[in-house]
Amino acid sequence: MIFDAKDISGNITLEADVVVVGSGAGGGPFAYKMAQAGKRVIILEAGGYNTSKEFTENEAEMVNKLYAAGGGQSTEDGSIGIYQGQTTGGSTVVNGMMCFPPPDQVLHKWANEHGVTGMGPGDLQPALREVEEIINVHDALPHEINRANRLFIEGCHNLGWQGAPARRNTKECLATGFCLAGCAYDRKRSVLVTYIPLALEYGATLYCGARVDRVLANNGKVSGVVAQLRDGKSGKLCGTIEVNAKIVALAAGSIQTPCILQRSSLANSSGMVGRNLAIHPAAPMVGLFEEKIYAWRGSVCGGYSDEFAADDRGGYLLESGSLGPALTGMLVPGFGREFQDWMALYPHMASCNSIVHDPGVGEVRYDSGKGRAVINYRPTEETYSRIKDSIKRMAQLWFAAGAQKVFAPFTEPLVLEGPEQLNRIDERPMLPNSVILNSYHPQGTAKMGSDPTSSVIASNGESHDIENLFVVDASSFPTSIEVNPQITTMMLGTHFAQGILAESSRYFS
Ligand SMILES: Cc1cc2nc3c(=O)[nH]c(=O)nc-3n(C[C@H](O)[C@H](O)[C@H](O)COP(=O)(O)OP(=O)(O)OC[C@H]3O[C@@H](n4cnc5c(N)ncnc54)[C@H](O)[C@@H]3O)c2cc1C
Repeated sequence: MIFDAKDISGNITLEADVVVVGSGAGGGPFAYKMAQAGKRVIILEAGGYNTSKEFTENEAEMVNKLYAAGGGQSTEDGSIGIYQGQTTGGSTVVNGMMCFPPPDQVLHKWANEHGVTGMGPGDLQPALREVEEIINVHDALPHEINRANRLFIEGCHNLGWQGAPARRNTKECLATGFCLAGCAYDRKRSVLVTYIPLALEYGATLYCGARVDRVLANNGKVSGVVAQLRDGKSGKLCGTIEVNAKIVALAAGSIQTPCILQRSSLANSSGMVGRNLAIHPAAPMVGLFEEKIYAWRGSVCGGYSDEFAADDRGGYLLESGSLGPALTGMLVPGFGREFQDWMALYPHMASCNSIVHDPGVGEVRYDSGKGRAVINYRPTEETYSRIKDSIKRMAQLWFAAGAQKVFAPFTEPLVLEGPEQLNRIDERPMLPNSVILNSYHPQGTAKMGSDPTSSVIASNGESHDIENLFVVDASSFPTSIEVNPQITTMMLGTHFAQGILAESSRYFS
């Protein structure tokens, strides 16, 4: 059953076994496993129940409707855009569908340096297999790789680098090119069209427009949550909902999960709630080709190179992905006529991004005065040096693929005419607001670990401080995962639920 806040008035109180806060990559699988086991599950989702019928393929409209803060979320200094979905299915509705399992070396680091137990590569295999089957992860089919992605892979091969199509979670992809604005044909196997229907089929109830304000607890044990019900269109407060539950699972994403805990003044004896924010800073790069590429046609993300993934090789992934006209415009020089002339060449442009491995140096703090999350993140010297290295590699790659020019990601635009000009990148300062950066992967703000003085949750996802309170989203990562995080997040949602169900009498008696 699905309820929308706008159809409810007044304050309601409900009883459940499990309340899941957020319906994205972590919350969806967790809710499904619990409902499948016969638990009474209520999912509270701050965003709306927006289905493919409403996905208009108008990017400006959809970004406003489906993204957190209408797509305008950023670090407090405005230097890094932080993109997340805010809709039923969370970021999985708007993501690029690249699928990577968690790298073994990161899981080993979690075990060796953070004391995480029961989460070695072998332990997670059953959850991985289940996730991959439910969301239909497969090697990209030939028709799913568009010209821009092919050029990216060719560029890698011309340089002798690894480069290949990524595995993706689609089914019979129609290659319409609007992946990041919601798939209007349900070919993207997001949580919206997989785990949420499965959870509902097993009896879960979903409330949309339900923004959880606080977690409630008594004597060190969780007792439920309180949410505001708001009309998705007008933002008008329609009422409140209190859910009394035996288990509370926070899955509101790495920006909002810590804010909920901070508003609740709970689970923070370590002082780590909101800290340890890693974001995989992503630097974009545009290549201009003689031929028309039409990078927006077909699946917009698809190729990757892990040639420089190892720390001693650089510490970043390279991925092809169409930036769209708005982000491309940020890299293109000039104003007025000059800018217009460059943008008229948009059909000739292909873009890619680096996904840089970064330490958790950022922080999220709920600011009650502003009524929103304040996100502070400044790349370390080491991260900036990785970003710069990745920018040079991406320029090299586009030239190797045949680009005539490349547009490097600096606020003072930099157009390179050939590979012999790569050293001009070295001249650019690496400072906030001088290099253009985005993040699609916030992580780590309620980190897992064995030591309650330096981590928020234990290896089973449960708060060190508050019994029966779980964090089941990307906030739980002890370190950045170094690949696109949706598969790891879904696996953890599945794995944590399995752990609880294996000790059912402890949690549900
Ligand atoms: C544009 C884009 C492209 C991406 N591409 C890829 C990709 O190709 N491959 C990949 O692996 N990953 C990709 N990602 C990242 C991936 O989708 C996320 O890492 C993953 O979805 C995170 O899962 P989560 O459960 O932590 O949060 P989310 O999936 O974001 O879910 C959080 C949910 O909580 C809800 N919520 C927030 N606050 C509250 C509250 N107070 N009360 C109730 N509900 C709340 C939100 O509305 C949202 O629905 C991409 C992300 C974006 C934005």
